[in-house]
Parts: sequence; structure tokens; C-alpha cells
Amino acid sequence: MSRIAYVNGRYAPHCEAAVHVEDRGYQFSDGVYEVIMVRAGRMVDGNGHLERLGRSLEAVKIDWPMNRRSLEVVIGEVVRRNRLRDGFIYLQVTRGVVRRDHQFPDNIQPSLVMTARRCAVLADSLDDLGVGVITIPDTRWKRCDIKSISLLSNVLSKQEAREAGAYEAWLVDEEGYVTEGASSNAWIVTGAGGLVTRPVGRALLGGVTRQTVLELARGEGVALCERPFTVEEARVAAEAFLTSTTSFIKPVVSIDGVKVGAGRPGPVCASLTALYAAYVKAQGGGE
Ligand code: PMP
Repeated sequence: MSRIAYVNGRYAPHCEAAVHVEDRGYQFSDGVYEVIMVRAGRMVDGNGHLERLGRSLEAVKIDWPMNRRSLEVVIGEVVRRNRLRDGFIYLQVTRGVVRRDHQFPDNIQPSLVMTARRCAVLADSLDDLGVGVITIPDTRWKRCDIKSISLLSNVLSKQEAREAGAYEAWLVDEEGYVTEGASSNAWIVTGAGGLVTRPVGRALLGGVTRQTVLELARGEGVALCERPFTVEEARVAAEAFLTSTTSFIKPVVSIDGVKVGAGRPGPVCASLTALYAAYVKAQGGGE
């Protein structure tokens, strides 16, 4: 069965789906997006994603392309038409199509695009050997809390990581603190077993996975501290990992080529992975 995309009210074969050249998403990166995990045909953390979408839209003054309930119906329809059991929905809202000009008119109809992608089910236990990250200066704008489709800096950072043989780039602010990864949130575990991740704010995207992992850890009584950490602190941490909708929880076993802890995924990361996998399964109705 061919993949189906949703574009502005139409469900079209993925290879034929297209938007207008004057779409402001194409012309100016004038839009926002979400990537939502689907498990057993249901959205995982659907509320968190749609609430964040609302915050992003409001921050950039784009109207909802349709009301939230209708949007959920379209998501369900994209899942159904793609026979998507386990995978991701990509959802993008741009300001719409209008003659190219930096300023925008009041009454413009936003464009809505959705695509679906399959993926393997998250394993119940840590079956990941871990990944390496590099650290590079954070060259992004000052509103990284908005899930903007303007990702050039993130794209170049990720490419730099790839070219260095690493999985992710951890972005570092002017004071030497890690903000987040190019497409994930960054975490460390201290020698005392405490979990550390940077508090949300304009310097980073408030990850939906980050929030869920925080709540799961809190529920287990794990010591938590939302505070910035430096690259030096991360290098000597007991464990490190990253979180995102598409990477789940990924152990980070080296930073700039230097081993973190024993250079293997650690026990805190393993237990969070098990908790998160159980949570995702439950969100999918336990199947
Ligand atoms: N930070 C950035 C810059 C990201 O692009 C992403 C994922 N899109 C995340 C963090 C993680 O967010 P989430 O857990 O909601 O996928």
C-alpha cells in the first residue's frame, strides 16, 4: 500500500503530495511542526504534543488550521489510511500561501501537512550500546522553545555530528552550559545517582519525551534536578543520555570522544528505558 499524505484538506499519495511554491513555509520557514509517536495505532502523549503545537502557533501568531478536535480526527485518518500501527506522524502548520513579502496579512489560511512513517516498537529493555555526541556552540536564535520549522542551525549541527562519526551534537551556550541536542534533550546522571537536565525556557525546546521521563523518574523517587550543566560536568558524569520522540531514551557513552563513566549504558538509563517502554505500551492500550 502506498503512503498517504494529508495536504490542506486532501489525502494524496505521498509521491504526489505538494504545496504551492509561494507557501511561506517554503519561502521563509514561516511555520511550526510536531512529531508524534504512534503506538498500536494511538498517539503517545497526544495532549503534550497538541498543547505544545498550540503554544508554538500562538508564539508565531499563526491560527490553528482547524480546531483541535478536527485536527485529532485528521491525525486519526492519516494513521488509518497509512495502516500505521507503530511509527510517527509528522505534522506541519505554516502561515499559508501568499505573494512573497516579509510581513503577512491578517486573514491568511494556514497550510496543514501531515505524513506518516513506520518504525520498530521500542524495546522493553535497553538493547542499545549507546551513542557518541560532540559538543559545539549553539548558534540558534533566542526562541528555541518554539518548535519552528526553521532548522538550519540544527541541520548543520547534526551534519557536523554525523561527519565526526557522532550521533548527536550537544549545543553549548556562551557560558559553557549545554542547552540541548540538535534534535533532542540532554541529560546526565551525577555520581550520586541524581538526574540532571536543563530547565525549560527560551534556550531549549521543552521536549514531550523529556517531560514524560521527568514524571516517570519522579514517580520512582529518583533524585531530580532541573538545572543547567556544563560540558566538563557531563564528561565526568556517571551516565548521560538523550531523549526525543524518535530516539526515545538513548544512552550517550562518549562526549567529544571521551568515555562517559564506564563507556557503557548505565543502570539509571536502563531503568528509565524500562519505565518509558511500559508507559508507551500503556498509551497504546497495553497491546
Ligand atoms: N530539542 C530539539 C531541538 C528537538 O528538535 C527535539 C525533537 N524534535 C527535542 C528537543 C525533543 O522533543 P520531543 O521529546 O518532544 O520529541
